[in-house]
Amino acid sequence: MAPDGPFSVSKRFSFCYGHRLMDYEGNCRHPHGHNARVEVKLSAPKLDRRGMVVDFNDLRSSLRGWIDQTLDHRMILRRGDPLIEPLRALGEPFFVMEENPTAENLARLLFERAREVGLPVVRVRLWETDDNFADYAGG
Ligand SMILES: [Zn+2]
Repeated sequence: MAPDGPFSVSKRFSFCYGHRLMDYEGNCRHPHGHNARVEVKLSAPKLDRRGMVVDFNDLRSSLRGWIDQTLDHRMILRRGDPLIEPLRALGEPFFVMEENPTAENLARLLFERAREVGLPVVRVRLWETDDNFADYAGG
């Protein structure tokens, strides 16, 4: 887990997605959608020469495009979901995850993406609804 420095900045993104959960008995076993909000928190032990943890513009450009191209307005499904083939046949956009596409796993996916592009991410919070959110803080 990245050390949580004394300075931090956070940026929010939003995107729309559809999903359903496998091996689950509740309503979320049916395909449905969410307007997600994501908060990416970055931390640093000290500021750069500009007095910043990370330039918000850099943070935006390194994640916004990926979110738009990978997750936004897509069905997010677990590998093995029988919906994948019909969507592929119809030419509809989808994204496949190894784990159930819960808020927790989407938070982890975004955390790992932020780390891959070199951001000093310490936490990703993903709101699935106004009242429900999940955090992933590395590990
Ligand atoms: Zn849902």
